[in-house]
Amino acid sequence: MPYIVTEPCIGVKDKSCMTVCPVDCIYEGDDQVYIHPDECIDCGLCEAECPAEAIKPDTEGGLDKWLEINAKYAAAWPNITEKRDAPSDAKEFDGVEGKFEKYFSAEPGSGD
Ligand code: SF4
Ligand code: SF4
Repeated sequence: MPYIVTEPCIGVKDKSCMTVCPVDCIYEGDDQVYIHPDECIDCGLCEAECPAEAIKPDTEGGLDKWLEINAKYAAAWPNITEKRDAPSDAKEFDGVEGKFEKYFSAEPGSGD
């Protein structure tokens, strides 16, 4: 039962979660982060850390799409373990609906 990152992270990406992950299984895309489902040890520490409530256990219903997205991009993009500043316009994206359709990016972030 890995945890995965879902739509509320898009554009917010404040990078709190990776500071608590004991196995460094979080990876950085252009506009959000991803958890590697095969590396996550299901400790749940990151879920409580996320201000956007973007991190969910994959056992929650309706998250198959996000499990695939996390697996795909966590395997492709760079690892991130250190907190850096959130995007300057992060507040404008917090809580906005429909971000996947409007803003999802298949580009990498810079990682550590
Ligand atoms: S649940 Fe634990 S192991 Fe999995 S990503 Fe979050 S902090 Fe890391
Ligand atoms: S704490 Fe939440 S909003 Fe911040 S980077 Fe992690 S998943 Fe995204």
